[in-house]
Amino acid sequence: MVGYNMGHLASGIVEVVCGPMFSGKTEELIRRVRRAQIARQKVQIFKPAIDDRYHESDVVSHSSLSITALPVASSLDILSNLFDSTRVVAIDEVQFFDQNIIPVIKKLARRGIRVICAGLDQDYKGSSFGPLPELLCMADRVDKIQAICTVCGAPASKTYRKNTEECAEQVLVGESDRYEARCRVHWDDHAEDEDLLAFSIPLKSGTNKDPKEVATSP
Ligand SMILES: [Zn+2]
Repeated sequence: MVGYNMGHLASGIVEVVCGPMFSGKTEELIRRVRRAQIARQKVQIFKPAIDDRYHESDVVSHSSLSITALPVASSLDILSNLFDSTRVVAIDEVQFFDQNIIPVIKKLARRGIRVICAGLDQDYKGSSFGPLPELLCMADRVDKIQAICTVCGAPASKTYRKNTEECAEQVLVGESDRYEARCRVHWDDHAEDEDLLAFSIPLKSGTNKDPKEVATSP
């Protein structure tokens, strides 16, 4: 049974919960942490010091669930603050960490620790956020969850920033005063699809027929 965790050898695991703002990522992180605590596993929760929206040392979801977290200035501070007895490490707002978060998480997993990360996969422009691409790639389990579009009520995978002329920086910490969850259609409203324009992909109907369809049509 090589490669299986038979109980005598702890196997680390990396889990990522991603999605847009207001999709319940932090709630899901808190839910997993609570379950680990019920199982009497030692849990430590970290968050980047940049995110000061609610309370200095709490991870708080939009629905006001909270757990106590340690704000850290850099990825390496996670290692220096780790207790020997810790079995589960939860990291909220992981998109705000520097690239060192990747080797830090690998090191934790190698130690047999379960690492649960939550964060935004995309910024308000739809570009990937910070270390998320590599994190999603190396994770054992990824859950991409959706919010609800504030315009039409459809499932939403995008974060829409209101008043973009005010500030175009990628990181602008805010809440519903600055952001909304939107479906692709209502998010596209304001964001010109520069990628498609740049490649001039022809999307006119009737010009690109599948040869098989042409052959079988009467
Ligand atoms: Zn919509």
